[in-house]
Amino acid sequence: MTQPEDAGEVGRPEPGCLFCKIVSGEVPATVVRDEERTLAFRDINPQAPTHVLVIPKAHFADAAALATVDDGLLDEVVRTAHGVAVDDGVAESGYRIVFNTGAGAGQTVFHVHAHVLGGRGLNWPPG
Ligand code: 5GP
Ligand code: ZN
Repeated sequence: MTQPEDAGEVGRPEPGCLFCKIVSGEVPATVVRDEERTLAFRDINPQAPTHVLVIPKAHFADAAALATVDDGLLDEVVRTAHGVAVDDGVAESGYRIVFNTGAGAGQTVFHVHAHVLGGRGLNWPPG
């Protein structure tokens, strides 16, 4: 599958990418899980008591770009998300994993990230 033109070289650090800078430590973040290939840190503008972002350390623009690599990395993102939910005590009450994909869906940072939201009631459908 071809990549969007702004996706950069798939998997390589993308100059100017905020989340690549969090991976490198150039931009600080409150890291809650640091796995071999994934990183989880608290969202700077939390929308729920638990609001953590889980990213692959390698740069992919969005979930579809990551999924095309097909090497299990997307699974690792989801496993890390579940670990975060367990650590934060929201796994049993329920939590939401959201991949905003594309500007029209609210994606503002084009380094794929799973939002892990929990700790309050979550409406459906989402806004
Ligand atoms: P998106 O809108 O792309 O789905 O999600 C991007 C998320 O990144 C937003 O929830 C936003 O609050 C968060 N965010 C933006 N800048 C920073 C930052 O510098 N640090 C952290 N921890 N989160 C950020
Ligand atoms: Zn990046």
